[in-house]
Amino acid sequence: MTKETKPLRESSALRETARALSRRELCCGTAVLLCCLPGLRAQAEALRDQPLALTEIAPGVHVSHGVHAEVARDNQGAIANVGFIVGTERVAVIDSGGCLLWGQRLREAVRRITPLPISHLVQTHMHPDHVFGAAAFLVDRPTILGHRRLPAALASRQAYYTRRLNEILGDVAAGSIIVPPNQIVDSETEIDLGGRVLRVTAHPTAHTDNDLSLRDLATGTLWAGDLLFMERVPALDGSVVGWLTVLDQLCAMSAARVVPGHGPVAAAWPAAADAQRRYLTGLRDGIRAMIRRGGTMEQAIATVGQGERPRWRLFDDYHARNVTAAFHELEWE
Ligand SMILES: [Zn+2]
Repeated sequence: MTKETKPLRESSALRETARALSRRELCCGTAVLLCCLPGLRAQAEALRDQPLALTEIAPGVHVSHGVHAEVARDNQGAIANVGFIVGTERVAVIDSGGCLLWGQRLREAVRRITPLPISHLVQTHMHPDHVFGAAAFLVDRPTILGHRRLPAALASRQAYYTRRLNEILGDVAAGSIIVPPNQIVDSETEIDLGGRVLRVTAHPTAHTDNDLSLRDLATGTLWAGDLLFMERVPALDGSVVGWLTVLDQLCAMSAARVVPGHGPVAAAWPAAADAQRRYLTGLRDGIRAMIRRGGTMEQAIATVGQGERPRWRLFDDYHARNVTAAFHELEWE
C-alpha cells in the first residue's frame, strides 16, 4: 500500500474523533482554562491571598508543584511545575503559570524569598499553563527568553488560547496575555545570576517545536520543562521521533536531578526519564508496526500503547491524541 492511499483509510468516525481531539486544548490548556470557571472568581481571589507553596529542591532553586488535574475548581491552573532560581545578584523565573493570577502569586513568592531583581523570565515553550502568567513580571522589565520558534508558535495560537481563556475564565482572565520573548535562543545561551550560571538550550522539535531546557550549573539541576513528564501521561505536540532523540541528548547531560514540567518537583537524573522513554518508544514502534501491516489509525488508537494505561494519570485524556499525532508523523516516513 502506498503512503498516498493511507489517508483514505480513515473513516468519517475517525475524522470526527480527530476533530474532537483537535478541539481539545493541549496538555496545559484544558486544566488551565477550566480551573477558573465562571463564578469562581471569589474563590480564586481568596486563593490569591494564600502564600504559594514552594519547595527548595536545591540551594536557591524553588519549585511550585503542579497538580495532576484536568479540571480543578480549586487549583487556579497550577498544573505545571514552575519556579525560580536565585543568584547573588539576580533572579530568573522559569515559566509563569497558567493565568495572570498564578503569575502574580509566583512573583509574590519570589518577593518573600529575596528582594533581588527578577532579571530573567524563561519561557520553556508555548503551552498556556507555562506562559499565561507572564504579564505579572512585566513590572520587572525582565529579559524574556524563548526558543527561536516560540514567537511564531505563540502568534499562531494566540487567538485561540486567548479566546478560550476568556470564554472559560470570564473576568478572571483579565490581564492574562501572551507575552512574546525579547531574547531569542537559537541554540544555547547562558544567564549569569551572580554566583551561578544557567545554561539555556534550544532543542529540535520534541514535545513541541519550541522547547527550551535549562541547567543550573551550580547545583547540577536540569529544568526540563515539558520535555519531561512524570506520573502524568506525556502530551505530544511536536514529534515522537524527535522527542526520543532529545530525551537521549538530555540524558547524556550530567545532572544530579531534574525538574519535570509535570510530575514531582524534582527527581533523580537520568533515571527519571525511563518511564517516558518507554511510553514514547512503545508509541513509535507500535504505530510503525501498525503502518507496516496496513493497519488504520483507528486500529492504532484501539491497540497501541494500551498496556501503559495503568501507569499514567490522565491516560484516557491524552493517549488517543498522542496516537493520532504520532500516526500522522510516522505514516510519511
Ligand atoms: Zn506543554
